[in-house]
Amino acid sequence: MTAEPVTTPQPPTPAQAPPTVRASLSPSRAADFKTCPLLYRFRSIDRLPERTTMEQARGTLVHAVLERLFDLPAQGRTPAAAGDLVAPQWDRLVTEQPELAGVFDGAEPADPVEFLRSAAGLLEGYFAVEDPTRLEPAERESLISAVVDDELLIRGYLDRLDVAPDGALRVVDYKTGGAPREAFEARALFQLKFYALVLWRTRGVVPRVLRLLYLRDAEVLDYTPDSDELVRFERTVVALWRAIEQATARQDFRPRPSKLCDWCSHQALCPTFGGTPPPFPVAAASADPLRDSRSVPATPGADE
Ligand code: SF4
Repeated sequence: MTAEPVTTPQPPTPAQAPPTVRASLSPSRAADFKTCPLLYRFRSIDRLPERTTMEQARGTLVHAVLERLFDLPAQGRTPAAAGDLVAPQWDRLVTEQPELAGVFDGAEPADPVEFLRSAAGLLEGYFAVEDPTRLEPAERESLISAVVDDELLIRGYLDRLDVAPDGALRVVDYKTGGAPREAFEARALFQLKFYALVLWRTRGVVPRVLRLLYLRDAEVLDYTPDSDELVRFERTVVALWRAIEQATARQDFRPRPSKLCDWCSHQALCPTFGGTPPPFPVAAASADPLRDSRSVPATPGADE
């Protein structure tokens, strides 16, 4: 990949929710509903806890290192410097989110040193596809938002936004998971289009490139959206929200089995696997129409 030089514009202020806004949707939760309505219910309405996996913790760590890497002067963004950030960033994350330390509980082998080494290995994948000394990201781990259809706030954290001298936008998402790419690629592109829609609505510019960086495979997937596609995508997002509202009113969130079930934390409660969902939490569902705005992960960057 050739990394082109970019400039640093003023960061935008996320759109404020006007009084008409009555619901909020993040790309992760929208993708949940699209993937499996019951998964959406478990995560966004029942709010069932999910144990952080080793892979997710490693993803959070690698995202944190890549975010901090760009705090260094350009010439200092070397593989060695990134490696030096791994342990301190893990210490910081565990201090801020003590539950992360629990990823080693019951893990075989429970080896924190190997965990840090594997995170460093993913960073090697990063340096194989990008040269951070030639980049000056405009934004990192930014919360962006826009209102669509006059009443739906769409919002989410993007890993990185690059802005070229001619104003062209490139949205970059780091993927650190070890799951087969084909299982998650549609979901990843859905999320990137979500960000593209927010940027288009807030800046009036369709991003030139949506980029997925697969660190484990050291591969890049670029996608170029256009405005017609984003118009259609906006309709899809609004329709998705209406479907969520309907499902909530009917208390009807059906399982949609797929190969993604292998990564679902809630198989024991899922009818597909012989389980029974808990009683529908009516009060939680009706009392909090903006619930999804609060279910944007507190720690951006956790990979899926
Ligand atoms: S196990 Fe599969 S079908 Fe069941 S809730 Fe999870 S993703 Fe949906």
